[in-house]
Amino acid sequence: MKIHNFSAGPSILPQSVFDKAAKGVLNLDGSGLSILEISHRSKDFVEIHEKAKRLVKELLHVPDTHQILFLSGGASSQFFMTPLNCLPQNGKASYVDTGSWSSKAIKEARRYGEIDILASSKEAGYNYIPKGYTVPQDAVYLHLTSNNTIYGTQYHQFPDCTNPLVCDMSSDIFSRPVDVSRFGIIYAGAQKNMGPAGVTLVIVREDMLGKVERDIPSMLDYRIHIKGDSMYNTPPVFPIYVSMLTLEWLGEQGGVAAIEERNKEKAAILYKEIDRNPLFTGVAVDEDRSLMNVTFLVKDESMQAPFLEMCKNAGCDGVKGHRSVGGFRASIYNAMPKEGIETLVEVMQQFEKQKG
Ligand SMILES: *Cc1c(COP(=O)(O)O)cnc(C)c1O
Repeated sequence: MKIHNFSAGPSILPQSVFDKAAKGVLNLDGSGLSILEISHRSKDFVEIHEKAKRLVKELLHVPDTHQILFLSGGASSQFFMTPLNCLPQNGKASYVDTGSWSSKAIKEARRYGEIDILASSKEAGYNYIPKGYTVPQDAVYLHLTSNNTIYGTQYHQFPDCTNPLVCDMSSDIFSRPVDVSRFGIIYAGAQKNMGPAGVTLVIVREDMLGKVERDIPSMLDYRIHIKGDSMYNTPPVFPIYVSMLTLEWLGEQGGVAAIEERNKEKAAILYKEIDRNPLFTGVAVDEDRSLMNVTFLVKDESMQAPFLEMCKNAGCDGVKGHRSVGGFRASIYNAMPKEGIETLVEVMQQFEKQKG
């Protein structure tokens, strides 16, 4: 039986990427060597790395003002690396709290300067994206989490302000076009929409750097990684390789504008069923619903376990919601085919017939 993987992360990647990655482990492009054993300074890997960077640049139209880095440490390390590198000791940065990833970013940033929380949707269980606040002019940057993986909310429009945006795009990078020129820093752990766990993409505008006085350890200094072209130390070779393959696949799909259309279509199928089916209800408010992580509840909580059992029997894996929200979460990243969503919708309809 085909298993449809709705897991939030690490998560689904295209089957063709698995096939190519498996071949690369055994014999990389006919070299007689495995991707796992070659030097990161070998010609083969340097080409892979260059290609990965080029694909990021092309797919997101990254301007020449921005540098592209592949780092280790997960998106969670960016929670402190961004303020460490960009927020002067006596400076101020603004944050919007849209969930536990934002809260963690806030907690880490507080070590480095004044953190101003402009808005939070915590009181409402993070089921919406706050809007209508004013960003102070003297904020060095405004930090946002573009897609809230746990709660299923997403910015469909970024706030209108002149401050540079610093954005955690871990769970919706490459799912839609973004105007990179508005962002001082974009960061994303690869394991949701870009590749396997183990590499973090950082896109940084160079004029965000060099404005702090503090002593930054080399491994945490963006300028050192820029200077070393992500090879100051051994980079995560295999995750970069698999990310490159995934981006190549994305290019073949027509790029981010084309995938956004498909993502909209896919999400609409599932939300339509959530709204139609009397047993279920959505978690996020309509206008902020995520196209990547669809969160929903069953109105009668005793039906939760039987629904999950039915999902499992139909080959829908990873539908259980995050422990802090409960209910269900279907993560429908770029690589999720429409058929996966149609299968889940069929399960919901069957469930209605049985229990409704
Ligand atoms: C998963 C996730 C993270 C954490 O990423 P790590 O790579 O595990 O550190 C951070 N932010 C968002 C939005 C996420 O979805």
